[in-house]
Amino acid sequence: MPERFKVHVSKDYLVFCSGHFISYEGDKCERLHGHNYRAFVEVEGPLDENFYVFDFIALKTLTKTITDELDHRMMLPTRNRVILLEESARSVRVRYKDREWVFPRDDCVLLPIENTTAELLARYIGERLREVLRSTHRFLPDVMRVEVEESFGQSASWEWRTEIAPA
Ligand SMILES: [Zn+2]
Repeated sequence: MPERFKVHVSKDYLVFCSGHFISYEGDKCERLHGHNYRAFVEVEGPLDENFYVFDFIALKTLTKTITDELDHRMMLPTRNRVILLEESARSVRVRYKDREWVFPRDDCVLLPIENTTAELLARYIGERLREVLRSTHRFLPDVMRVEVEESFGQSASWEWRTEIAPA
């Protein structure tokens, strides 16, 4: 079994306090509420010439840039079939059946996901991070894991692996 190395970045550093609501069971919708989310990131790969997988500080900073965009925002999904958004320069109008909310545009972050569940937030953060690692740092980990904790003892994670080309 070949060696494997991983680096983690801590949850406490990567907190984002955000509002959301999710749709569930097809046509039900939660009330507006918020969480103090915490993210956790792990990347796995070979050691580089410095003998590390990836610089911790850089990994934290890159992840924090992404979680900071979500912090103190209302997170809204753009791909939800029952939560409908109407975006204008100054506001976002949100409709679910006969319920309606209007938020200042700057207070919202519109996410290209189906629902703002911890699972899809983990994937969103992971895919954003993978893209910046690849484009800016020319680094593609063998394995990436992102966990998003919504409240104590309640979290979801996303894992991604580089496709290994068949020999
Ligand atoms: Zn919630």
